[in-house]
Amino acid sequence: MKLLLATRNPGKLAELRRIVSELDAGIEVLGLADVAEYPEAPETGATFAENALAKARDAVAATGLASVADDSGIAVDALNGMPGVLSARWIGRHGDDQGNLDLVLGQLADTPDERRGAAFVCAAALVTPDGTETVEHGEWRGRLIRAPRGTNGFGYDPIFVPEGEQRTSAELSPEEKDAASHRGLAFRALAPALRALVS
Ligand code: IMP
Repeated sequence: MKLLLATRNPGKLAELRRIVSELDAGIEVLGLADVAEYPEAPETGATFAENALAKARDAVAATGLASVADDSGIAVDALNGMPGVLSARWIGRHGDDQGNLDLVLGQLADTPDERRGAAFVCAAALVTPDGTETVEHGEWRGRLIRAPRGTNGFGYDPIFVPEGEQRTSAELSPEEKDAASHRGLAFRALAPALRALVS
C-alpha cells in the first residue's frame, strides 16, 4: 500500500522510509513531490500536535492516501518553552535558519550554563482515509552552547548538544541523529499504527 508523508523535506522522507522498511509490511512511502499539488494551509495551531494533525488531514482529503505529517521545533527552558511552534519563523519570517539561531543565542547571552537546557520536540500524526487519527510525540533533551559547531542537520542543530553527548546535533551523523532524535522517536512510535494499516 502507499503512504504519503506530507513533506518536501528529503531528510524526513528518508527517515520515515527507513522506519517503514524495518516493518517489512510492504508500505511504499511517497512525498508531496510524488502526488498532484494541492494548497498547503499555513501552520496556525497552538501545539505541534494540532499542526501535524491539520497537515495530515489536508493530505488525506487531497489525495485519498493514508498520510503522516510531522511538526517540530525547539523548546528553550530559559524562554519558557519558546520558540516552540514558532521555531521556523522566530526571527519574524520563514526560511532564515541562521537568523533564528542568532536570535536565540542573543536572547540567551546572559543565561548561565546551568540554565541553558532545551528540548527538540516533534509530533507525528497518522490519519487514514476512514478517519482514524493517531498522534505520537518525541522529545530530545539537551543544552544550548554559545557558538555554533558542525555542518550536518539544519535549523538549531549547530547550537544543540544532546544529553550524554559532547558533540552538537550538527556534528552527529544522520544515522546517529535519527537514532536519538525527537523526529526518530515520534516516527518510530507510529510503527504499531502503521503496521495496523496493512493487517
Ligand atoms: P518543521 O517541523 O519542519 O516545520 O520545523 C520547524 C523548525 O523547528 C525548523 O525550521 C527548525 O528551525 C526547528 N527544528 C525542528 N527539528 C529540528 C532539528 O532536528 N534540528 C534543528 N532544528 C529543528
